[in-house]
Parts: sequence; structure tokens; C-alpha cells
Amino acid sequence: VASHRARGNDAGAGAPPASPGGTGGFRNAADTDPSVPAGREWAGRVVALARDSHAGEATLATARVTTAAEARAAVAATRRGAAWWWSRDPGERAAVLHAVGRALETRRADLCAVMMAESGKTLDQADPEVSEAVDFAHYYAIRGEALSRMRGARPVPREVTVVTPPWNFPVAIPAGSTLAALAAGSAVVLKPAEQSARCAAVLAETLWDAGVPSDALRLAHVDASGLERGVGAALLTAPGVDQVILTGAHETAALFHRLRPGVRLFAETSGKNAIVITPSADLDLAVRDVVQSAFGHAGQKCSAASLAIVVGSVARSRRFLAQLEDAVRSLTVGTAHDPSTQVGPLIERAHGKLARALTSLEPGERWLVEPRRLDADGLQWTPGVRVGVAPGSWFHRTECFGPVLGLMTADTLDDAIALQNGVDYGLTAGLHSLDAHEIARWLSRVEAGNLYVNRGITGAIVQRQPFGGWKASVVGPSAKAGGPSYVAALTGWERDESPL
Ligand code: GLU
Repeated sequence: VASHRARGNDAGAGAPPASPGGTGGFRNAADTDPSVPAGREWAGRVVALARDSHAGEATLATARVTTAAEARAAVAATRRGAAWWWSRDPGERAAVLHAVGRALETRRADLCAVMMAESGKTLDQADPEVSEAVDFAHYYAIRGEALSRMRGARPVPREVTVVTPPWNFPVAIPAGSTLAALAAGSAVVLKPAEQSARCAAVLAETLWDAGVPSDALRLAHVDASGLERGVGAALLTAPGVDQVILTGAHETAALFHRLRPGVRLFAETSGKNAIVITPSADLDLAVRDVVQSAFGHAGQKCSAASLAIVVGSVARSRRFLAQLEDAVRSLTVGTAHDPSTQVGPLIERAHGKLARALTSLEPGERWLVEPRRLDADGLQWTPGVRVGVAPGSWFHRTECFGPVLGLMTADTLDDAIALQNGVDYGLTAGLHSLDAHEIARWLSRVEAGNLYVNRGITGAIVQRQPFGGWKASVVGPSAKAGGPSYVAALTGWERDESPL
């Protein structure tokens, strides 16, 4: 602690006389240094980052984007905040995080509304996302406090954690990453996805209102043109940035490593996830779980089911296909405003891999249900199911991130596992089987971070189902979000003495 405070003071900080009950008593660096943006403002050019998902290009809110100089200044201010935040008693930090949990609960309606408007999330997807954020707050509060009671090793601070979440869980993922870092005693610069800037702003306001000091959490909005001009690089390479939490594409993780070699990077990246259905399965449940996992939030989840692999007699009979076809055709596609909607809009016009998956077939495939575009903007698509996906084919191996499911067939469970494992990624995997031997065999052979039996493969629950990947789905330390070692992994460790 002492050495950290010395480093903090080198960066120009005095320990601010803050009261975690609010930002009121906390002296912002901006009070004394006009070049540093105050925590609650966004410096720079005002741009329309937040788009109304129901109105094409219409603007929902504007945000100020950060310049490279401001990004560096924000890290410097956060570094000073880090020294103070780390010096707090762990119980005091935990109390702030519990207050955040209660505040998120109080703002549930606001958070849902902004997710629905900005991200096109239906209420049945947005509401549990707030619950997940609440769970993260309380669980990480408990884990952070527990760290201080562990014997034989002492946590040492990571000064500044840069958090770069995705747009698809615009509240739960930024909340979870930010709160874990705060629980570890680190301060955070949060760079939201530009598609969900408003969600991040409401989230940050909630944290500040609940007592997270504004110098322990800063927002830095960086849009695509800013990234091209090197603002993201300025953020990552600023002195004091000890670690980065990224949820996003595998390519982005590689870029971060190039920009800042040696930074501790916790990255949860892409997935190509399958559910296996054996002849012993309850087919009604299997169809329900496949449909929910494939088409919830229009398939825009890293955890989504992109493949269903049917085994033996399930593959040969018409029953599973007929039930699946019925279920998919009965889904209601529409806007998130409409309570009857089950499949909402895409975050942006389908392009690249997703456009290819929605509009064309690979050799040997046919449509069980062909997707249709419903609107001129290309945001609303009816879900699609392609059958006859061949082993090793483009659709077998490629994450497409949208409302398309592919069906594969296998003679035996082992063949199905080989197909499930035959991709680069290993994020989620499912099995529907009522046979205990099959379940045991599958659990011992399947290669994915999150294994689900007789359940859908999305919607991991904090503490009960810690979430993290395997193979190309993870870069960096393999601690799982919402699990017992995540907060500890975000802290350095020093041994007081040899445990021997
Ligand atoms: N944790 C989410 C789930 O279990 C997935 C997160 C993601 O898509 O990155 O569905």
C-alpha cells in the first residue's frame, strides 16, 4: 500500500477527503486542472453516438467524444483516484458496491428503457440484464472484502483498469467488468461501445450517485473516427494503465496486444456454440432451449446457439425438424417497443458474415426456414434455419452473430462431440439428454468454458455459473466473470512469507 501511495503521489495526487456516500466531498482533479474533464462530463466534440434503434438513423442522445489528449488526462486523473480508492478499507469499498447494487435495482426501469430504445432489446431480455448487474455488484462486493481476509498473500493494486465492453449486453457487461475492477481496488476508465453510449452513461451515473468517486470511474467515449485517429491507442498506452478488460472480437484482443504489449488483458471473445440433442432427450424441452438460445436478442450474444447437432434417430425422424420449424415460424419479429416481440432488431444493418449467413447457402445446405428482411433499413429479419451444414464448412466454423441457426447431424454422441469441438472457439456448449452415461461422457470430452445440460446455453447466472471461455474464446488469465477468482485475478499478489 505504501509503495502504491508513493506512486500515486508522484502522479500529483493528494488523497482526497472523499465520502463514499456521494461524489460531493470528493475533489475532482478537474477542480484544479481545467484540461482534465470532470468525471460527469465528456470532453470534446459532441456527436450522435446513441442511435434510436427503432427509427433508422435518428438520434436518441448525443455524447462528447474524447480526444487523445483528453484520454491521457482522464487516465492521469483516474490514476490519482486509484491511489485514494485503494487506500480505503475493503469494507468501505464493499459498502459502496452494495449501494451500487441497490441503486441499480432502483433504476431498473430507466435502464430497461434505454436498453430497449438504444439497443433494441426486448423487455424480457433487458430486465434480467439489470438483475445480472445487481448480482455482480453484491457478489463482487463480497469477493472484494473476502480478499482482505485471505492469509499468506497480500493483494497489491492495479492502478487503472480500462474496460471496453460490447454493445450486446450494454448494462450487465460494463457493470460487471467495472464493478469487479473497483472491488479489486483498481480505478476504471470505461470506454463504452459507441452503439450503446447512452446505456453506459446511465450506468455510470448510477454508480456515481451510489458513491463511486468520479475519479475512480471515468467515461471516455471513443467513436470509430476517434479510433482511427489513435484515441483508443492513447487510452491503452497512457501511463498507469495496468490492465484491460475486453469483451469483444478476437481480432480486437490481438490489436490491444499489439498496441500495448505486456498489458494484462482479460478478454472474452467470440464463440461458435452448439447444442447436441441425443435420442434420449426430451424433444419439447430441447426445441424450446434451442430456439431461445439461438434467437434471443436476435442471436446477438457470444453465448448464442449457432448450431444444433442432432444424433442418431433424432436426425433420421421428421419430428424434431417439424417441431423446430413450427417453433421458429411462430416467433414474432418486431420492434422492442412492442411487448409481443420475441425477436427484436439487429444493432445495425446486416453486413459481412451475417449478411452472407442470412442470404446465401453453402453447398449441400437448404433452408428449413428462410430468413426474410422486413424493413428498408435491414434491421429486422425473420429468423433462419439452415439444414445440412457440412463438417468443416464455412457455417460450421464461423461466428455470424445474428438470427441464423444451422443444423448438423451425427451418427453417435462421440461424432456429435467431435463436431462441437471442431471449431476454433470454446465459449458455451449444450447437451440435451436424459441418459446419465451420455451426460457424463459429454461433460468429460466437450471443449468449452460453459457447459449446460438440459438448459439453454445463454444467460449465465452470477456465482452459480461463472462465465468464461476456452480455446480461442479467451485471451489472458482464465478467471471467469461472476466466479470466485475474478476479483482476485484483477489484483496483483505479494507473498508475505513462503507458505512452506
Ligand atoms: N453472459 C452472457 C450469457 O451468458 C453472454 C455474454 C456475451 O455475449 O458476451 O448469455
